[in-house]
Amino acid sequence: MARWVYAFGGAATDGRAEMSALLGGKGANLAEMARLGLPVPPGFTVTTEVCTHFYADGERYPEGLEEQVEAALAAVEAAVGRRFGGEADPLLVSVRSGARVSMPGMMDTVLNLGLNDRTVEALAESSGDRSFAFDSYRRFVQMFADVALGVDRGLFEEEIEILKDDKGVEADADLDADDWSGLTARFKEIVRDETGAPFPEEPRAQLWAAIGAVMRSWRTPRARTYRRLHDIPEAWGTAVNVQAMVFGNMGGDCATGVAFTRNPSTGENALYGEYLANAQGEDVVAGIRTPQSLTAADAEARGSRLPAMERAMPEAFARLMEMRDRLERHFRDMQDIEFTVEAGRLWVLQTRSGKRTAQAALRIAVDLVEDGTIAPEEAVMRIEPQALEQLLHPTLDPDAERDVVARGLPASPGAASGRIVFTADAAEQAAASGEAVILVRNETSPEDIHGMHAARGILTSRGGMTSHAAVVARGMGRACVSGAGAVRIDTESEVMLAGGRTFTTDDRITIDGSAGEVMAGEIATIQPEMTGGFARLMAWADEARRLRVRANAETPRDAEAARAFGAEGIGLCRTEHMFFDTDRILAMREMILADDEAGRRAALAKLLPMQRRDFTELFRIMEGLPVTIRLLDPPLHEFLPRTEEETAEVAAAAGVDAVKLRRRALRLEEANPMLGHRGCRLGITWPEIYEMQARAIFEAAAETGARPEVMVPLVAVGSELERIKAVIDRTAAAVTEETGTAPGYSVGTMIELPRAALRAAEIASAAEFFSFGTNDLTQTAFGISRDDSGAFLGAYRDGGILPNDPFETLDIEGVGELVRIAAERGRGARPDLKLGICGEHGGDPASVAFCHGIGLDYVSCSPYRVPIARLAAAQAALVARGQEDKET
Ligand code: ADP
Ligand code: MG
Ligand code: MG
Repeated sequence: MARWVYAFGGAATDGRAEMSALLGGKGANLAEMARLGLPVPPGFTVTTEVCTHFYADGERYPEGLEEQVEAALAAVEAAVGRRFGGEADPLLVSVRSGARVSMPGMMDTVLNLGLNDRTVEALAESSGDRSFAFDSYRRFVQMFADVALGVDRGLFEEEIEILKDDKGVEADADLDADDWSGLTARFKEIVRDETGAPFPEEPRAQLWAAIGAVMRSWRTPRARTYRRLHDIPEAWGTAVNVQAMVFGNMGGDCATGVAFTRNPSTGENALYGEYLANAQGEDVVAGIRTPQSLTAADAEARGSRLPAMERAMPEAFARLMEMRDRLERHFRDMQDIEFTVEAGRLWVLQTRSGKRTAQAALRIAVDLVEDGTIAPEEAVMRIEPQALEQLLHPTLDPDAERDVVARGLPASPGAASGRIVFTADAAEQAAASGEAVILVRNETSPEDIHGMHAARGILTSRGGMTSHAAVVARGMGRACVSGAGAVRIDTESEVMLAGGRTFTTDDRITIDGSAGEVMAGEIATIQPEMTGGFARLMAWADEARRLRVRANAETPRDAEAARAFGAEGIGLCRTEHMFFDTDRILAMREMILADDEAGRRAALAKLLPMQRRDFTELFRIMEGLPVTIRLLDPPLHEFLPRTEEETAEVAAAAGVDAVKLRRRALRLEEANPMLGHRGCRLGITWPEIYEMQARAIFEAAAETGARPEVMVPLVAVGSELERIKAVIDRTAAAVTEETGTAPGYSVGTMIELPRAALRAAEIASAAEFFSFGTNDLTQTAFGISRDDSGAFLGAYRDGGILPNDPFETLDIEGVGELVRIAAERGRGARPDLKLGICGEHGGDPASVAFCHGIGLDYVSCSPYRVPIARLAAAQAALVARGQEDKET
C-alpha cells in the first residue's frame, strides 16, 4: 500500500530534511527537528503526492489516505494524551500548507481546529481559563471560515470593532470570555448567511475540509501567479501538515514569536527577532500590538519600554538560545525560526534558511567558514553573483530623509549626489576642480562620454534601459536614472523642472540608480567595502576559478578601478572613446573629412602624440598585465560635426573651405551605419588610421616594456585580417628600427560577425587570439539593432518567444552556438589560440558559466562587474567539478 502520511514529533518520526520534495519544506524540517530531539509538537504530514493524485483524479483522495490519517491522528492523541473531539481536555490541531519552497499566495494556516460548542467548554475546563478558550474558539471560526469556506474576513473584524465600540474599550485584550462567546455565535450566523450552510461542528469534518482547502489553494490564481514569477513547477504540489496545538495565548507566561539566528540585514552573529506575550500564531506580524525584542541588547538599542524575552521569560529564552546553536550547527546556515511558549515551555514550529540582504549573505558566509561550519567553496556557492552588485556601489544611507522629486528607470545602480550641470563640458570642468556633479540631459550621445565620465551620476528625461545613457553609465559604473519623463530639462537656459520645483546649476540633487529616484539636495551615501569579508570571499573565488577575468577599460580612472576590483588585465580598450575629448574631436573630424590621404595623415599626426600618451599611461597602470587594444571601430558618423558652428571650426583648423567640408560630411551619411563603413573596413580603405594607432601602441610599448595585444574589429573574411596585420607588422618593424627596442606584441581579432565565426579556421591563421564581441554578434546573428530593440523585445519576452533580453544574457542556443563553432574551428587551426569574450555578457553570471563550459581563457566586462564575473567563474568551476566527481 502506498504511503501518504508521515508522522513527526511523537513516538516515531518518519521524515527527514532531505525529503522536502515529498513532505514540503515545512514538513521535512519539522521531522528533522523532531529527530534532533527539539521540542516539536507532534503531528503528521500528508505528502505532496496526495496533492498530485488529487488533481490527477478529479479532486479525489487516493485510496488508503483516510485510514492513514486516522492512524496518524491516533498516534498524536496518544503522544499528547488528549482526544480529537474529546469531551474532556480535547486535542486541537493546526492545519498548515507547505510546498517544497515557501510560497506566499497559498492557504493561510488554520489554528485551534477541533473546537466546537462542546469542546470549547472542555477546553475552558481543562485550562481553567474561559477567556483563553473562547478567544481560541473565535480565532478558529474566523480562520476556518476565511480559508476553508471563503468568507471575507473583514466581516468578522467589523463585528469585533462594533462590540469594542459598544463597550467603549480599545484593545482585544479588554474583551472577556462572554464577549468572545457572543462574537463566535455571531460569526457562525455570518457563515450561515454567506455560505448557506451551518458552520461544521464535527471535528473530523473540519479536518477534512481544511485538508481539502490546502490542496485547492495550490491552484488559486494567486498561487499560480507566484509560481509563474518564480519558476516553480505546477507539478510539485503542496503537502499538508496537521499538528497538535500549543498555546501562546494562555496567559502571561505564554508567547509567540519569530527569531533569526543571525541578523538578516547586517549578518551580525546575534539572535534577532520579535515576540508577543499572550498571543497566537501570526499576531506578531499582523501588527495588532507592538512586538517586543528578544534580547535585552536589542530592546535597549530600540529604546523599547516593553521587556525583552531575555528578561521576561529567561528560562524559555535560554532554551531558544540553545536551539539557535543547535539548528545552525545542524543546518549549517542562518535559520528563520517560528516558536511558541506555552506556560513557560518553548516549542518550535518551523525552521528554514532565512532570507537575507546581500551584505548579510556575505558576512554570514564568511563567518561560517571562519567558525569551521562550512568550507570556503561552499561559501563561494552561497552568494549569488548578481547580489554583489548591491555591494559594489555607494548606497543611500537608509536613515537619511529622501525628498523625492521625480522617478525614472533604475538604469545603472548606485547612488550619487552633486551639483547639477547641463553639458558634458561643464561636467568635465567641474570634475577637474574636484567638484561632484550630476549630468542632466534629455538624452545622451557619444559626444557626451567625457562628461558622463566626469560626472558622479547621470539623469535623463528620455530613453529606456538600453538607451545610450543607460548602457554607457552601466559600463562606466556611474549611477544613472534614465527616462524620468516628468522632469523637464531646458539645456539652453540651464533649468530643470521636477516635482513642481525649479532647479538650476546652483542646486544639488541626489539620484539613486538602483531605485530610479531623483531627490532634491544632497543625501548621505555609504561607500562600498572592498576589504574584510568581501576580500576573503573573493580570494576563495579566485582559488576556485579557472577563467581569467579582465575588464573593459580605456581611461586611467577605469583602469585603476578595474585593478581595484581585481581585473587581471584589460580585455577591451576601445580607442574611439579616446577621441571624443574636446581637444581631440577636432583633429578627428579633420581626419574624417579630409579629401585625400595627405589630409588624413596631417590630421592623424596631431592625434599620434595624444594617443601614445593614452597608451603609455594605461600600460603603466596595468604593470605588465595583458592589455588588448581594439583599433578604431565605430561608424564615422558618430564623429561628424552636427552644427554649422562645429563644421566651421573644423574647416578653420584644417584650412579648407567650409562649404566643401559640409558637402563631404553629407556624403559620409550612411543609411545603416551599424552595417556600414566601420570596423576593419576603415583600416582597409584608409590604412593610415590603423597605422597611426599601431605606431602609438608600439611607441608606448617600447617606452614601458608592455606587450600589447592588438585587436582588429569586425573582421568577416580572413584576408581582411591578413591585410591589416601586414600594416601592423610593418609599423612594429619601423618602430623597432627607430627606437632600437623590439616591442613584443600579438595580433588578433574580434569575432562579432556570423561569417567570421563560421570561417574561424581561416581567420585563425592570421590571428593569435579571438575575442568574442557578443554585442555585435548578437545584433548580427539576430539581425536586431540593439538601439531599436526596445520597441519589440518586451513583447518577445512577455510572449515567451525569448526567455530574456539577448543583449543582457547570451543567447546560448543561437549566438552561443556561433561562439562554440568559432572556438572549435579556431583552435582546430591553431591549438594555442587564446580565447576571450568582451561583450557586456562577460559580466553576466549565466553567460560566464557558458564561457567556462566551452573552455574560453577569459571573460572581460566593465570594471564594476569584475567581482561578479570572478564569483560567477568560480561557481561555474565548482559546479563542473561537482558534476565530474559525481560521474567518477
Ligand atoms: P506560514 O507558512 O504562513 O508561516 P505556518 O503554517 O507556519 O504558516 O503557521 C503560521 C503560524 O501559526 C506559526 O508561525 C505559528 O505561530 C502558528 N502555528 C502553526 N501551527 C501551530 C501549532 N501547532 N501550535 C501553535 N501555533 C501554531
Ligand atoms: Mg503566513
Ligand atoms: Mg510559518
